[in-house]
Amino acid sequence: MQNIFFTCWRAVLEVLFPSCCAACGHKLIQEEREICSSCLVAIPRTEHAAISDNGIDMLFAERIHLEHRKIRYERGAAFAYYNRDRGQVLRQLIERGKFGTNPNPEVFYVLGREAAREYVGSALLEDIDMLVPIPLHSRRLRERGFNQAEYICKGMSEVLHLPIDTEHLVRVRNNPHQSRSQFDKRESNVRDLFAVRYPEEWKDKHILLVDDVITSGSTLFECMKQLSAIRGCRVSVFALGWAHN
Ligand SMILES: [Zn+2]
Repeated sequence: MQNIFFTCWRAVLEVLFPSCCAACGHKLIQEEREICSSCLVAIPRTEHAAISDNGIDMLFAERIHLEHRKIRYERGAAFAYYNRDRGQVLRQLIERGKFGTNPNPEVFYVLGREAAREYVGSALLEDIDMLVPIPLHSRRLRERGFNQAEYICKGMSEVLHLPIDTEHLVRVRNNPHQSRSQFDKRESNVRDLFAVRYPEEWKDKHILLVDDVITSGSTLFECMKQLSAIRGCRVSVFALGWAHN
């Protein structure tokens, strides 16, 4: 009885306050959630699932080589382009989702789910043990109210049925707002930002680190460095957007 009441109440609310697409503002139809089908289709995919040694792999391979690090990096991918020219739709969704007048975590959930659907059965996800969202510092988490990377993981997990671990990787220091800082300042911004609690529990695990956007890759690289100290721990990376010039 209660369920019927809530279904009817939701239907009434939907008529009075119809949900709109977070990108184009058009009214959503019943099976759509947060983003309309046209905007989801318009997001320019990188097609990384089909490309070995893609741009993300090259970015981290070069970094690992330059810093002579012993990092057990496996694979990487970004779902779509985030550039000003090609990636406007995704850019709009991510920026509105994080910084708009009404930040909306559900946008990240829907994007994570959409991305995961396109990576099912791909090499990227082979033998992954868990999804690990890049953590926000507690102060930023309080300000925003949610961690967008965690919502991406929730959407991915619905499709992939992989567990999400938000307990082990922690951010120990806050950093200035990255999207507004200079590229060359980023390297010093991200040093010693992360730590792993109870690292022995990640021994021999294959972790998929998940973030919203990869720009220089410095944040993810700092996390990788922490994981490299754990025996047998391997790491792959995934982001919704790739700000590639
Ligand atoms: Zn739309």
